[in-house]
Amino acid sequence: MLLTVIVPCYNEEEALHYFYREMEKVMGVMQDVEFELLFVNDGSRDKTLENVKEMAEKDRRVKYVSFSRNFGKEAAIYAGLQYAGGDMVCIMDADLQDPPALLPEMYRVVVEEGYDSVATRRVSRKGEPPIRSFFARMFYRIINKISKTDIVDGARDYRLMTRAFVDALLELGEYNRFSKGLFGWVGFRTKWLEFENVERVAGETKWSFWKLFMYSIEGIVAFSTVPLSLASFGGVIMCGISALAIIFIIVRQILYGGSAYGWPSMVCIMIFLGGIQLLCVGILGSYLSRMYLEVKKRPIYICKETNTTKNEGN
Ligand code: UDP
Ligand code: MG
Repeated sequence: MLLTVIVPCYNEEEALHYFYREMEKVMGVMQDVEFELLFVNDGSRDKTLENVKEMAEKDRRVKYVSFSRNFGKEAAIYAGLQYAGGDMVCIMDADLQDPPALLPEMYRVVVEEGYDSVATRRVSRKGEPPIRSFFARMFYRIINKISKTDIVDGARDYRLMTRAFVDALLELGEYNRFSKGLFGWVGFRTKWLEFENVERVAGETKWSFWKLFMYSIEGIVAFSTVPLSLASFGGVIMCGISALAIIFIIVRQILYGGSAYGWPSMVCIMIFLGGIQLLCVGILGSYLSRMYLEVKKRPIYICKETNTTKNEGN
């Protein structure tokens, strides 16, 4: 049994040592499993790659794939899945926010309870700015209302999967990737484990508020078409309101006469309608721009160097 651990790394030179030390402990506990540590260097500008290469020299289980530039965590995960040779595959952050100590339990669940995948979610968000938590909660509430795919609040990308699950994920070769949704989309039987939020061991988070916001839009556009129908919905409501207003004005004119004023209110209404129209065009645009990227069929990442090979069949 070979287990591949995919570790996306972007400027993680400090965290890597801690990570490797923790993984060594876990690998020591799980004697009956053979390991492969697959580091995906996502165009780091620090010594991440050097450190990984150093580890690879000392430990034959260490494999790496290095990108030509920063392509983002989603691309790193995809590359990891393509290069993973294991019968089981696990995705784990390099900063120890995904506790490696959970791995033996996850492994046991897959082997003994027959699940296809074990996912994790954090039940608390302590140590995170309150505004960020608030918007994160809102995001999960909205997306679960408007999307058929189940996207779990607090879900991490930390997940152990069987080969069948991985092959299913690899069939989804879309360019705009939102893994939390893709995991749910492919189905299979998944068990959820919960853990308390852990703060990162070294370095700092790569996700600014703005980056997270754009990522949430990515998630919504990728897994729901409800925003597209907002325009028709708004249109119907506007028609209804204006019909009522027309009737009101006609009746008032007949009964009282003198309806020549109302210029400021007219301007307000025009600006309001113009705004709604622009908003709808913008929503159309965000779907269109993603289609544009999808149609170009650009590769999701470019590998510059590696010490392992891509999987057969991919
Ligand atoms: N990461 C990556 N590419 C990026 C951003 C992040 O490979 O462009 C990796 C990063 O090295 C880490 C994981 O994704 O292993 C999670 O990133 P981070 O800890 O910054 O996110 P957070 O835990 O704060 O959500
Ligand atoms: Mg982190």
